[in-house]
Amino acid sequence: MTTRRLYYDDSYQREFSAQVLSCEPELHGSTPAWGVVLDCTALYPTSGGQPHDLGKLGDANVLDVRDEGEDVVHVVDRQVPLGAVAGCVDWARRFDHMQQHTGQHLLSAMFQERYGRPTVSFHLGSDLCTIDLRGPEPTEEILEGAERAANQVISEDRPIMARYGTAEEFAGLGVRKEVQRSGILRAIEIEGADLQPCGGTHVKSTGQIGIILVRRCTKMRQDWRVEFVCGRRASRAARHGFQLLHRAAEALGCAPDDVPGSAQRTISERDQHFKNVQALLRRLAETDAVAVLNAAKPEANGLRVIARAFDEESQAEYLSHFATQLAKSEKTVALLGRFTCGHLIFAQHPSAGKDMNALLKQVLAQFDGKGGGTRDFARGKLNDAAHAEKAVALAERLVSAG
Ligand SMILES: [Zn+2]
Repeated sequence: MTTRRLYYDDSYQREFSAQVLSCEPELHGSTPAWGVVLDCTALYPTSGGQPHDLGKLGDANVLDVRDEGEDVVHVVDRQVPLGAVAGCVDWARRFDHMQQHTGQHLLSAMFQERYGRPTVSFHLGSDLCTIDLRGPEPTEEILEGAERAANQVISEDRPIMARYGTAEEFAGLGVRKEVQRSGILRAIEIEGADLQPCGGTHVKSTGQIGIILVRRCTKMRQDWRVEFVCGRRASRAARHGFQLLHRAAEALGCAPDDVPGSAQRTISERDQHFKNVQALLRRLAETDAVAVLNAAKPEANGLRVIARAFDEESQAEYLSHFATQLAKSEKTVALLGRFTCGHLIFAQHPSAGKDMNALLKQVLAQFDGKGGGTRDFARGKLNDAAHAEKAVALAERLVSAG
């Protein structure tokens, strides 16, 4: 039995009557469903890169439509009695697919004709559509040029029709695509622009594509994947893009046109501020180190041990500057921690004669964390920042005992 495909001759047919030939239980994912075969259908099955339709068969909702050899199987959510049934197509979904699919044929033709970039595959997704182009990377001019040429053909509202013939006949008409199937083939012609073997559903004139919007182009293995959207999707995408631009402009306090310049200036200013803060932190660490060293008394073994845990007021950068400064002083050991983030820095002047890396490992054996370094400078991070104070105290005990 072969299901007659009504959409081949009229892709605008939204309602149809058919005979239910079989209705067998099956699973749709993990939910119980029924697979229905009709004598004819206007519902398009997933094939040739175009997603399946949705719709109804009587009271049953169509969940999926698939090709099974010559048959079309409609997966529905309830049993459909054998005999006559009225079917209908979810038109908004189908028309969207038609806009995207015809738009794809047209855009591919423009890339091929104008820039010699053949389409090697395409995908009509639920959000974005893509074509994969072979050849060198398409420049911004090529992407824009193909989009402009396609939109020109759209504005000329050229007729689109299905033609039938053998592979040889189509080859004689300049069809580029290699066709494996024998017998009579179907091809879609966009007048004066494209002739392409295709079993999909298409709009009847280019004006119904509405508009084509080419978006990103990214490398995909050896090819270039071009994202595009057509029709209502294109206007939605353009509106969404403008909303994002508008929000960015508001955040930056500038006009939409000034967003790139303003973002660039803001980033430069941020980088400059960062450098200034770094310089100030270094100077602060130097001054603090002098004050701390003046106040510290050497222990019995002649070492000066500065052990301290800092709160969130101190910057992480300050900590390492401070440690470095302290360790410039003879016989000095600096044992620092931050109990907001659990960072530890152990540093010494080489004359202190301890091993900071070994000391850190000993402390981390007691309090979980990771880190390492050299004999004179080691840095670590505790898994639990709340242990910073105890970790520093332990390090101080170990240094004094050793
Ligand atoms: Zn097609």
